[in-house]
This record gives sequence, C-alpha cells and structure tokens, in this order.
Amino acid sequence: MSVLVVGGGITGLVAARSLALDGVPVLLAEAGPRLGGKVSTEHAEGFTIEHGPDSFLATRPAGAALVRELGLGESLVGTAGTRTVYIRHRGRLVPMPEGLGLVLPTRALPFARSRLFSWPEKLRMAQDLLAPRSMPADDIAVGVYLRGRLGNPLVERLAGPLVGGVYGTPIDELSLDAVVPTLRTAEREHRSLLLAGLADGRKMRAAAARRAEANPRAKPLGVFVTLRGGLEGLTAAVAASAAERGVDFRTDFGVRWLARSGAGVSAGFADGSTAQFDAVVIATPANAAAVLLDEALPAAARRLEAIPHGTSVLVTLAYPRDRVGHDLRGHGYLVPRAEGGPIAACTWSSEKWTGRAPADTVLLRMFIRDEGPSTTLPEAALVGAARADAERTLSIAGEPVLVRTARYEHAMPRYTVGHLDRVAAVEAAVEAWPAVTVAGASYRGVGLPDCIAQGQAAALRVAERLGARAPSGEPSIAAAVARG
Ligand SMILES: Cc1cc2nc3c(=O)[nH]c(=O)nc-3n(C[C@H](O)[C@H](O)[C@H](O)COP(=O)(O)OP(=O)(O)OC[C@H]3O[C@@H](n4cnc5c(N)ncnc54)[C@H](O)[C@@H]3O)c2cc1C
Repeated sequence: MSVLVVGGGITGLVAARSLALDGVPVLLAEAGPRLGGKVSTEHAEGFTIEHGPDSFLATRPAGAALVRELGLGESLVGTAGTRTVYIRHRGRLVPMPEGLGLVLPTRALPFARSRLFSWPEKLRMAQDLLAPRSMPADDIAVGVYLRGRLGNPLVERLAGPLVGGVYGTPIDELSLDAVVPTLRTAEREHRSLLLAGLADGRKMRAAAARRAEANPRAKPLGVFVTLRGGLEGLTAAVAASAAERGVDFRTDFGVRWLARSGAGVSAGFADGSTAQFDAVVIATPANAAAVLLDEALPAAARRLEAIPHGTSVLVTLAYPRDRVGHDLRGHGYLVPRAEGGPIAACTWSSEKWTGRAPADTVLLRMFIRDEGPSTTLPEAALVGAARADAERTLSIAGEPVLVRTARYEHAMPRYTVGHLDRVAAVEAAVEAWPAVTVAGASYRGVGLPDCIAQGQAAALRVAERLGARAPSGEPSIAAAVARG
C-alpha cells in the first residue's frame, strides 16, 4: 500500500504527515527545488523576510493546534506595537476606524468619528439600519451586495482594500458565500448589517472579558499569529516530523501525468520515471491538478480549469530607520483603487513583528495589485513602483538597503462568485476515480489553517479508503474545514 502526494506546500506536507501517522507509506513529489510552497522565509543580513504568508488566523484552530502538536507552541507570537492600519485616502494616511471586523464596524463611536468618510457618506451607510433584507438566495459578489446596503465609499475605501486585498480579487467579483458567509447569517439574524456588527462586537468583548477573568495572567496573542523565526519553521517542522515517520520526499521531481492502473494510480515524473500507487492526493493549485487529470479524468480537468487563478507579486524593501519621515506607529497601509498605481498594500513588518529587522532599519512588504498589466511588468519596474509608493507615502529619503521580489505566477486562486459550486463540481467529478483526492488553497480556504485542515481531511479520507484507518463517518473536506 502506498500513496503519492503531489505538491510540497503546507497542504501536501500536512497530508503526507497525517498519512504517515496512520502508517501509510508516502512519496511526496514536489516540482520545485524546496518544500513549503508559498510558505518561504529567508534570513539575511539580520532580516527575517517572509516571501509568502507572514501570519495566520489564531481564530481558526487547525493552525495553532498543529504548531503546538509539533512542539512549537513556545515560538508562537502575536503582533507587536500599535495595531493601527491606515488607508491612503487622497494621498494621506488615515487610520482605519478602531473595532472594524472583517468588513463591519463592531463599535459605533470610532466609526462615527472616522475621518475616512464624510458625514453624507456616513448617513448613506446608516440607511442600512432601516433597509429591509436584500440578500439574494444565490451567491453574490461581496462588493455588489455591500454597495447596495452601505454605499460605494465603504466598499471602495474599506471593504475593497481589506477583503479584496487578502483574496487578490476585485471585491466586485469576490464570492460572498466562499469568503464572508457570515454576512448572510448576519442579515438573516439581524436584518441590518450595522446592528449585526455591533451585536458581534458586544459578544466578542464579553467573551474576552470572561477569558481575562478566568485567567487574568494570560496575555492573549491576538487575531494574527506567527512563529518567532518565520513561518517556514512550521513547514520545516511538518516535513521533519513526516520524514521521521518514513515519508520519502523528492524535490525537483514534478509529476507530469497520472493514469489509471487497476484500482490504483500510475504516475509519470519529470525525470521520465514512472511508479504505481494505491492512491494520490493532489495538493497543487487547481490549474496544475487539471493538467495531471487531463487524460485520465477529463471531466474533472475541465471543472478544475474553471477555478480562476491570478498572479501575486510581493516586493520587500528595507531602509535605514533615520531616512524614514513617518513615525510608523502601526502595521501598514492599504491603497484603494481610486488612489491609482499598482500597489495594493504595504505592511510594516519591522513594526508588526518583533525581531524582523536590525533596530536601525525598517522592513516593508509591498503587495502589487493583480489587476491590469501590473503583475506582468518586469521586475525592475515593479521594484521601482514599490519604491516610489513607499518613499512618497512614508517620506523616505534615500536608497533601500535590501530589495527582494517574490512572484507566484497563475498560482493564486480567485474565489469569484459561484466558487463553492465550482468546488462541489470538482469534488463530484473527482469522485469518479476513488483513488484520487484534491486539496489545497484553490478549494476550501486560502489561509494556512484552512489548508492544514484540508490536508488533514484529505489524508483521513485516503487512509479510510485504503483501510489504514477505521471509517470515522466524516469523509467531507468541507466539514473538516468548517470546524478547523
Ligand atoms: C504573498 C502571499 C501572502 C500570503 N499571506 C498569507 C497570510 O498572511 N496568511 C495566510 O494564512 N495565508 C497567506 N497566503 C496564502 C497561503 O500562503 C497559501 O494559500 C498557502 O500557502 C497555499 O498552500 P498550498 O499547499 O495549498 O499550495 P502551495 O503552497 O501553492 O503548494 C503547492 C505546491 O505544489 C507544487 N506543484 C505544482 N505542480 C506540481 C506538479 N505537477 N508536481 C509536483 N509539484 C507540483 C508547487 O511547486 C508548490 O510547491 C499568502 C500567499 C501569498 C502568495
């Protein structure tokens, strides 16, 4: 009995480790030269540079639980300093109102006082308090729905840069059911989104007070957490734990094709070799999975191709601290589309996390907007655009002391309207070949905890099918992600 895991990102690594814990022999084949996929940390010249994710949500249990299971609980850290995030509005940095949930205010006063919106704009938002329910039965774009309820300025200045930015997709294309299904529940239960946000805020504050009372010495880590030395510490620990249990890792070993072989799978690799397996977990982006299934399961390949993928480019810059005019009290700034230019956001890494840069320097992560021709520009132009944006916005004089670029070409899933239906169609089509399972960021959540939950659920399904584990009665990846 043996299983092939295709792709050595967090999803594939977790799937391989989980299978190995059940005693299943695993070969993990990774096309690139290293393990970790988009999780990639570089240590250079006293800097800790994240080329992919820099943190994950502590509110999704699968992430922190895995970190602790691997014995890394002591390395888990929350954000540092002032948590303010700014929005660039008419060229100036305006703080986001305090107490903002993913898109809704959880406190009324900071929002009412915010300089980000004029009084007529705030009055337009307040119409939501009286408006009847307006959620359609079918999926809708987050932006389209929010524009109807709260007006354009909230979408363009807050929800768009925040939610659209995280998902690398314009908010007027982003699936509400896949990304913020809580808006559906909020409207059903409270009718008004603003009332729902405030009720949520009261609940969160009461829960925090109860936790503080029960354990007055505990210092909560906050919503976003990371590992002190960078997130590659997590993928490296998953890989080490899997290797201890016998997982065979091969890098620079892309899978070229998959074919049926009796009840199992035959695979062809980049070096021309072939091998047989009882099952395969495909933990690559959906467009790469489509190529692998093109011959053996064309119906599934067509469904996989229907999930769109964009490109992500991240430019990291470091400057001497004494050349930066801004006080950098906060975690960074977001740039609404109306401000123009190819930069979507800038994270002040050296201020957001402790120990990421030498004390006399600042470290900035500049995200390029995946719209129009931005991400196709040559590297020098992207660095130039990132520099110009940071230097103008933060009054920086002089040259950066460190520059890095990371590019993820057609590898960022876009959760556009109808995403969950497309994923259900993929899963149904893949069912036609029981030896095959797909999992990862293209399907049921892009965040690391969701990828971890998907990797674990995929492994569980395969182990049950192979009889390495007694059926648990929960074969659904969706259910595991919803819990995790
Ligand atoms: C710049 C950036 C910032 C991000 N920030 C955050 C954040 O702060 N928090 C958060 O939670 N998430 C964040 N994310 C998202 C998160 O990092 C990803 O969704 C997650 O890492 C995806 O993991 P994965 O294992 O599903 O896929 P990947 O990491 O893409 O791994 C897939 C692997 O499959 C390999 N592969 C492809 N084809 C083949 C083949 N034919 N044969 C063998 N191998 C193949 C690839 O080389 C790759 O290594 C960010 C992503 C990026 C790019």
